[in-house]
Amino acid sequence: MIEKVSSDDKIVVNKYRQLLRYSTVTDPVQKKRIRKAYNFAVEAHKDMRRRSGEPYVIHPIEVAIISAKEIGLGATSIICALLHDVVEDTDYTIKDMEVMFGKKVARIIDGLTKISGIFDQSSSLQAENFRKMLLTLSDDVRVILIKLADRLHNMRTLEAMPKEKQLKIASETAYLYAPLAHRLGLFAIKSELEDLALKYKEPEAYNLISKKLQISQEERNKFITRFTQPVRKKLNRQDFGYKVISRTKSISSIWGKMQKKQITFDEVYDLFAIRIILNSTFENEKADCWQVYGTVTDIYIPKQDRFRDWLSVPKANGYEALHTTVMSSEGQWVEIQIRSSRMDEIAEKGYAAHWKYKGQKNSEGGLDEWLNKIRELLQDPNQDALDFLDDFKLNLFAEEIFTFTPKGEMISMPAGSTVLDFAYTIHSEVGNKAIGAKINNKLVPVSQVLGSGDQIEILNSHKQLPKDEWMDIAVTARAKSQIKSALKEGRKQYIEPGKEKLEQCFVEMKLEIDPALIKSFQRYTKTPSENDFYFKLAKGEIGLDELKDFMLKDEKSKSNWLRKLNPFARKPKGNEADLNTVIHEQLHEKPESLLLSKKHAKGKIDYTLANCCNPIPGDDVIGFFQSSGIIDIHRTTCKDATKLMSTYGNSIVKTKWRDKGSVEFLSGIKIYGYDQIGLIREITEVVSSELSVNIRSLNIESSEGLFEGIAMLYVQDTKQLERIISKLIKIKGIENVYRIN
Ligand code: MN
Repeated sequence: MIEKVSSDDKIVVNKYRQLLRYSTVTDPVQKKRIRKAYNFAVEAHKDMRRRSGEPYVIHPIEVAIISAKEIGLGATSIICALLHDVVEDTDYTIKDMEVMFGKKVARIIDGLTKISGIFDQSSSLQAENFRKMLLTLSDDVRVILIKLADRLHNMRTLEAMPKEKQLKIASETAYLYAPLAHRLGLFAIKSELEDLALKYKEPEAYNLISKKLQISQEERNKFITRFTQPVRKKLNRQDFGYKVISRTKSISSIWGKMQKKQITFDEVYDLFAIRIILNSTFENEKADCWQVYGTVTDIYIPKQDRFRDWLSVPKANGYEALHTTVMSSEGQWVEIQIRSSRMDEIAEKGYAAHWKYKGQKNSEGGLDEWLNKIRELLQDPNQDALDFLDDFKLNLFAEEIFTFTPKGEMISMPAGSTVLDFAYTIHSEVGNKAIGAKINNKLVPVSQVLGSGDQIEILNSHKQLPKDEWMDIAVTARAKSQIKSALKEGRKQYIEPGKEKLEQCFVEMKLEIDPALIKSFQRYTKTPSENDFYFKLAKGEIGLDELKDFMLKDEKSKSNWLRKLNPFARKPKGNEADLNTVIHEQLHEKPESLLLSKKHAKGKIDYTLANCCNPIPGDDVIGFFQSSGIIDIHRTTCKDATKLMSTYGNSIVKTKWRDKGSVEFLSGIKIYGYDQIGLIREITEVVSSELSVNIRSLNIESSEGLFEGIAMLYVQDTKQLERIISKLIKIKGIENVYRIN
């Protein structure tokens, strides 16, 4: 009996035949395994359909085709590609995979399943997951390669998805997958991913450019034939085979260029490049490339600044070729790329192709080196996922520069790297002790940005220690994380001196050393850890003044302290009660006598506002009875008040503001920033936009584009003052505004 074959089955079988045509697998055992995986995938995904309506299994077969044809992967990868969605989308488990296809296949599928669905998260999770995805690199790089094939097929069939999904998937592709493909040297896949991403992200630009390319295609072809004719004629006399092809720039790179240079499509002069691929032996390929270069530039004049030699020093992703741009006889610049067929295959297919040439010299480095770098970054516990992603992208997009040690060893660095980055690349200790460098025998500081071809000799000093500002000088994640940990280490040395200094402060203030007090003092100075606290003390960033400020603000320690400091406080004149009691009584029994406002001032209490600190309603204040009977009001943070309190503790009166009232108080603010036209007008506008605020004076001094100003204002209270400050700080050019005494 003949079974009726549905048209679906036919499509599937044809797809599978296509896969077999592209696969280079010849071993019958491996072929059988591929067949088994195919049958299994068909069975597992049966009755499932993609959004487009086609049988689901077409997708894994397509992914296998991309893996084989465009990346050049072998049997294991083809099997994994065929099975990549089975565990995720059906009831089969990793264990099932292992039983049927062995450990290796199961591990790769496990990796692929875990990566899947990774990007359905918020931004920081994305980065974290991306990090995880790259971690699997250390297991098996095929996970990443198959994932890229999967993504490419999904991008090719993105049409069937709803609009929002299209945008999300396209963005991820542009942001993560295309750079990853680029880094792995999968140039063709990278370009296609970028073009497809553009198609969904900016359909108008994409359509415009692809249409223009189509229209101009014929004309371009004719030109290329005319242009290459004399070159072919000469090359035909050589003893190596060659082919000449033209490569049109990808749509996304044309668009990139149009945007970057603000030009129209017609103004992009390098729409295409001509590639000459030589069938040379490995031994002769470089010499042959140079010979072709000579031939081409004999006929056409080269543009000096467009010459690129990636033969002598390949790009970090393994790219090798000679590039030059020459003037055609019709007056048009044309880019020529010269490479051997081996170089060409690696350039198009990436490292998978590279592996084919393993065993030949020069094949190490590259991928392994890159994987090692990634692994190093991933394993760095000091770095969080977002930093990692930034660094990853930095390393991807920044063009590389090549620098040299004094002994001539080449070190590739991301463009923008500084002397400090270079020092840390050599060794963490070389970085930690760096004081500068000699670049091409010229003395430069650690902040000097490196250029390609620089020969750098780092100058070290035993006295040198990493500095905080180095975090801003370093560009690479490696340097940054090493500086961070060195700084941490360095801080430890300050702990003991910091403790001693604190003890000294306590002694000076005649206080007992009280751990609880130290803890709250630490909280007051907003230092996150105890070690940071001692570090700041030792460095003098926190001092006796802050400790005194704190004592004044902290009620409990204040009263204790005042009592200890002031002999009179223990035995107040004519009264047995100590100061605390006095304050307490005054506050609770006769509060009106101490609550101050100008309205009441004429009545029971006479007071003045100290002009050393100009207190205004809202400030924490404290009063001093003066011999005249007038209370002098200071802010508790006032340095003069601190001095007064330590000397005349008995005459302290606790005071607080009664109400806002309608009276204005004089207060001063300091403003500084960059001098700009109209700045004074803007400042006065902000100030006078607040009801009832008057400017008493505004003095501004400026020099060399910087200005510093002091404004004396009549305000009602601290809230109003703070409001003005926060408005002023938003003015463009103003860098800082703060209250002054
Ligand atoms: Mn898939």
